[in-house]
Amino acid sequence: MKKKVLISLFIITSLSLSLIAVLAATDFGEFSYWYSVSSQIGFLPSTVKYYFAKTSSCTMPDSYIQNTSIYSINSWQSVYGRTYASGDESNYNVRFIAITRAEANSMGIPSSSPAFAVFNSTTYKGTGVYASNTKSVYEMNKVSVYYVWDISVSNYNTSLFAEAKWNSIGAHEYGHAGGYYDHNTIATSSNKSLMYPYYNIFYDQWGVSNPTTSDVNHMKNVY
Ligand SMILES: [Zn+2]
Repeated sequence: MKKKVLISLFIITSLSLSLIAVLAATDFGEFSYWYSVSSQIGFLPSTVKYYFAKTSSCTMPDSYIQNTSIYSINSWQSVYGRTYASGDESNYNVRFIAITRAEANSMGIPSSSPAFAVFNSTTYKGTGVYASNTKSVYEMNKVSVYYVWDISVSNYNTSLFAEAKWNSIGAHEYGHAGGYYDHNTIATSSNKSLMYPYYNIFYDQWGVSNPTTSDVNHMKNVY
């Protein structure tokens, strides 16, 4: 089976700053349900400024961009509990941007990825501990969720995806945007996860379009 991968790019611009920060390390306590191999977890500001956009070459309908993004926000709202406000390019915490396949290629995104999240700016807040492993905790100041509107004639023609499939993929990416670095790689058909790395499993096979108990347990320690 071809693996259709969803990925997140970690651009942790504050890493160098954290080396000179005088913040005392904060112990956020035990993360009881850590399914990820990542050493990082994050959280959004209490008020999230957001906006929608697409590049001039991208033909993804505005309604798809907005509906998928709003679905994604709502799917995590009971966990994140954020307040949302309108933002723009000069003042945002989360932006949802549709791009073309060619533009995704130029960013190094594999053809199998229909969407991805980028952490543009984060602030190091301290450390948390899980099973004796230290995790770095970040506030997510600027995050971008990209949708790749692929109209090519191939397996990955994402412009043919049903809106329900886009919603599932968007909700997965918003899990990253909300601070779920990496993936739930131990999920199974009897312990399903939205944050499993392959949408042809979590959506096509499992029908998951919202965070499951295991996804929520992963996140609730920092919200
Ligand atoms: Zn992912």
